[in-house]
Amino acid sequence: MSEFDIASYVSHIEANRSVKDALMQSLKTRRPPYRVSVTDLLNLKQAYFRRKYPEIVPPLEKQQLMWAGTGFHKTFGSAVSSEEYLEQFVEAEGVVGKVDIYEKIPVEVKTTSTPIDTGDLLQYRPTYVEQLGMYCAMVNAHEGEIIIYQRQVEQSSSTSPLIVYHVTFPDLEAIRVEMRRRRDLLLQALISNDPSNLPACLWFNRQCDYSSVCDCQTTSVKAAHEIAGLAGEIYVDSMAGQQLLNKMAGSQPSQAFRINDIVFPRKAYFERRKLQEIATASEVREEKEEYLRSMDERGFLDALRDSLRYGAPGEVQRIPVQHASLADLVQIWQSLPTILRDPKFSSLVERERLPRTFPHYFLRLGFECALTNHVRGRLLAYYVKVPKEDAKLMVYDVTFRNLDAIRAEALRRVELLEKGGVVLQLPKCPTWLCSYCDYKLECGQA
Ligand code: SF4
Repeated sequence: MSEFDIASYVSHIEANRSVKDALMQSLKTRRPPYRVSVTDLLNLKQAYFRRKYPEIVPPLEKQQLMWAGTGFHKTFGSAVSSEEYLEQFVEAEGVVGKVDIYEKIPVEVKTTSTPIDTGDLLQYRPTYVEQLGMYCAMVNAHEGEIIIYQRQVEQSSSTSPLIVYHVTFPDLEAIRVEMRRRRDLLLQALISNDPSNLPACLWFNRQCDYSSVCDCQTTSVKAAHEIAGLAGEIYVDSMAGQQLLNKMAGSQPSQAFRINDIVFPRKAYFERRKLQEIATASEVREEKEEYLRSMDERGFLDALRDSLRYGAPGEVQRIPVQHASLADLVQIWQSLPTILRDPKFSSLVERERLPRTFPHYFLRLGFECALTNHVRGRLLAYYVKVPKEDAKLMVYDVTFRNLDAIRAEALRRVELLEKGGVVLQLPKCPTWLCSYCDYKLECGQA
């Protein structure tokens, strides 16, 4: 069968100058200083120094641990819940956050490589309770759960690798008051360049990345956990723990595919075969690449991503798509499926050549459009290496023809992946990807 040529389904590409200008303007005039997150409110001192010293990055080992954790969260989340409930963005009180799983109540997932302490959670992990308390206050839920999962438990071990704490928060307004207080403290410190009113952080003297610049040694404001203190009842929910373990045991590698899997089906095929380790490793790689970009680029791209993700009220939607075993969310921005990509070229590609130069962008956008029934989608291309600031960002409105055929190709790919048959039947990834790929030998692309 001949390769599906997405370029022949692109009927029109228009550079949308007014959206680009509006976006650039809103990014340039973004209200200083910064968007505050729940994580910032857990440790104001670190939040302050993270912003003032972006050049200080955690050592590689620590980063790898963080990335492994992120990859694990996604894998774990997909095993015990479904896509539309995972990683839910929430915003309240001028603070943003991301709840790991939010079906009926907020659930925070934590992983550890050391045996789980079943003692008093408030004593040994007050920040877990604080974080959950803030999410509960943000979504107005009086209870939530903290799941602590120990990775790499030996098969023979008699201890459970997982513990679920159920926590209630009777006074949500008191939590919101404390959140506002912390938010304002941080903003004032950032504006005045003075961190002395921020409480000392728990990591002081414990290999904190900012120990060379911070003032914790001399600060008189002690670390405190007012929000954890507002928790009501905390108990271990053994039944919920057992149910989760059952779900995890029953979850098969054949669970839902994501849209990215059908853009790069061969990669998805190989990764499924080694689901557990590989899922984590590939995400580690992606996040590592992202992390290592220069801070400037990250700053701008993050801001762009934020605009797409949060936008003005009513501007952003995430629509679930579900076809056979394909399940994902499509981001709709200003009524169009929208993707943001950062090509590494040092000059802009002419618009007529875009679909042949970046077929994977157009496959992705085409699939998103076809699966949500939009003839038009939007590609934001941010050329990080283009020197001129105003020329870096391009906004393209892309019109597709024959959505039915594009949808049929998406579903054909899902079907091929479900069958898990002969890898050579799966469409190849773009050639440039092969040189970095761990599977090139098996795939016959070495
Ligand atoms: S070798 Fe190339 S075609 Fe094969 S899975 Fe890797 S990137 Fe895809």
